[in-house]
Amino acid sequence: MKYWNKTLKSMDEYIPGEQPADLDEYIKLNTNENPFPPFESVLKALAQNLNGSLKRYPDSKAIKVREIFAEQNGLKPENVFAGNGSDEIFTLIFRGFIEKNGIAAFPYPSYSLYDTLAQSNGIKFEKINLGADLNLDLDKFLVKGYDMVIIANPNNPTGTFTEKNKIKEFIKKYKGLLVVDEAYIDFYGGSSIDLVKEFDNVIVTRSFSKSYSLAGLRVGLAIADEEIIKGLFKLKDSYNVDALALAGASAALLDTKSFNYNIGMLRSNKEYLEERLSGLGFEIVPSKANFIFTRHPKITPGDLYEKLKKQKILVRYFRGPIQSDYVRISIGTMMEIKKTCTVIETILGEV
Ligand code: PMP
Repeated sequence: MKYWNKTLKSMDEYIPGEQPADLDEYIKLNTNENPFPPFESVLKALAQNLNGSLKRYPDSKAIKVREIFAEQNGLKPENVFAGNGSDEIFTLIFRGFIEKNGIAAFPYPSYSLYDTLAQSNGIKFEKINLGADLNLDLDKFLVKGYDMVIIANPNNPTGTFTEKNKIKEFIKKYKGLLVVDEAYIDFYGGSSIDLVKEFDNVIVTRSFSKSYSLAGLRVGLAIADEEIIKGLFKLKDSYNVDALALAGASAALLDTKSFNYNIGMLRSNKEYLEERLSGLGFEIVPSKANFIFTRHPKITPGDLYEKLKKQKILVRYFRGPIQSDYVRISIGTMMEIKKTCTVIETILGEV
C-alpha cells in the first residue's frame, strides 16, 4: 500500500459474486448472467472476426453498433456511446460529469459498484434507503439538490421497477444529472430511453451482459443528449471496445428472433421458479429482472446460502442492512432451477 494515494487507501473494493475455478461443477445463480449461450449468429460473427484483421485497432467510434441501436430506437448515432461494459460508462460519468465538490446519490440497496467508482474518483455520495416494500421513492432525491442521481431500473439486487412516468415526473423537477441504469430492462420492458429525446440531463445505460448472454464480451451502451455523448467520447480510452466485442454486439442487436426467444425462455423459467418457491413458503419481492430477491421464515438467508453452496449451488448473499435479509437467485436453465428447488426443499425439511 506504500504507493497508494489517499483515495485508493480509503476506498472500498467492489466485491463481485464468486466465479469458482471449477465452474462446471456448480449451478451458478449468483451473478445474474444469462444461462443460455450467446446466439449462433453472434458466435458466427465472432468467428468471422477471429482472423488477421485483429492486428488492426478496432473502430474507436464504434460506428456500426451505434448506428444499429440508434435506428432500432428512433435515435441518432450521435445519441449513442459504446463502452467496455456498462461499468466503464459509469466510470466515465464519475470522471467527467460531476465536480469534485459535488454530491451524488444512489438508492440503497443497489448496485454497489456505484459506490466504488464514486470513491475512486473522489466523489462524495449519499445513499437513500428504498421503502419498506423495497420500492424507490424518487421524491427523496429532490430534498437535497444532489448533482447526480443514479438509479438502476430494474434495481439490483431487489428486481423492483420504477415506471417511466414516475421517472418523467422526477426529471421535470430535478436539475442535476440523472443516470438510469437499464442493465436488466430487456426482460420486461418499460425503458426510459424516450426521455433522452426530451431532457438533456438523462443518461440511460444498457448492457449486453444479461439479455444478450454476452457478459464475457464486455459491451454496454449509453444513450443521451449529443453533448453528453461528446463528453463520453472525450473521456474514454483510445480504443475502449475491442474488435470482437463490437462485432458480437452488432450481430446480437440484429438477431431479434434469437433475442425474443431467449427472453421468452428466461421469463417462463422465472415464473416456474417463483411458483415453486412460493409453494415452499418463500416470500418473493416482485421482480422485473432475470433474478429474484427472496427469503423464507424458517431459515436465515446466510444459512440458506451456505447450505446451497455445500451442494454446489451458488446464489448471492449480500451483507449489510436490508439486503442481508434476503438471498438473490439468478434465473437459470430449467434443469438448474428444478435441481435448485429440489435441494431447497430438502434443506427446508431439515431445519
Ligand atoms: N448495472 C447493474 C445494475 C448490474 O447489476 C450490473 C451487473 N453486475 C451492471 C450494471 C454491469 O453491467 P456490464 O456487464 O454491462 O458492465
